[in-house]
Amino acid sequence: MIANTHWQRQFSRFDRVVKTDERPQTIVRIGDLAIGRGEFVVMAGPCAVESERQLLHTAEAVAAAGARVLRGGAYKGRSSPYSFQGLGVKGLKLLAKARERTGLAIVTEVLCPEDISVVAEYADIMQVGTRSMENYSLLAALGECGRPVLLKRGMSALLEELMHSAQVIAASGNPNIILCERGIRTFETATRNTLDIGAVPVLKTVSHLPVIVDPSHAAGVRSIVPILARAAAVVGADGLLVEVHPNPEEALSDGEQSMTFDQFREMMQDLRRYVPISRGCDDVCSRAFVAEGAAK
Ligand code: PEP
Ligand code: MN
Repeated sequence: MIANTHWQRQFSRFDRVVKTDERPQTIVRIGDLAIGRGEFVVMAGPCAVESERQLLHTAEAVAAAGARVLRGGAYKGRSSPYSFQGLGVKGLKLLAKARERTGLAIVTEVLCPEDISVVAEYADIMQVGTRSMENYSLLAALGECGRPVLLKRGMSALLEELMHSAQVIAASGNPNIILCERGIRTFETATRNTLDIGAVPVLKTVSHLPVIVDPSHAAGVRSIVPILARAAAVVGADGLLVEVHPNPEEALSDGEQSMTFDQFREMMQDLRRYVPISRGCDDVCSRAFVAEGAAK
């Protein structure tokens, strides 16, 4: 039974990923890292792996500031065929080298079922991008990849559809899924996407899966990323996925929304004040609001 009966009808059919008394919380483990256990886990790095120098420099900077996971796309699904498409296997090898150097776990995107085995060879977490959330053959194949999956919300997807996609992965044999709110398409154009901050407490109420927030792709501009990160911490997210680049002006993708090292360090400092506030959210998301549901 979902704690708030308001969402019972909409979400209870996703039996593998819905929160129940028997299964209140999934903890995704990668080595000594636990996502969903109460720590606020920050995943940071460039949008795309561009070079050894760029990646190792970033990995060292984000690790020193307290990140636990290094992000970086080796395969980039770009809107234009003329944009940088990523370094492929060479990029995966650089990510593995950065892990060896820093101890950070690696999250990187997989675009198609054919790439799963090579990406799983190098990555600790397999990222499904917003454009792939409804690629059901990819999701089903990730059921057997043997690695946790970071599932990003489609830019026009309902939370119900996100839960449906998570259910496809879980039903194919992989219960280690992290949900990611990364902003959705609305009529607003001042930001790249609209961060649906309400998605976090809804997902934390209806699902046992960890939920993280990507404020970088929501904002589209680096100046407001730290304050959106604060919001994510306060509403009870299990962590963040953010873009950081040694020289954002020269980034091959998403430079405008990528933070500098200094900005990232400041954000990590700032978050220390806000993460403890979220402790009360567990209570909100698991308390039964039976009266509210019954009143409808
Ligand atoms: C990314 O994380 O760099 C990315 C492409 O994200 P999204 O799929 O959310 O656009
Ligand atoms: Mn990006």
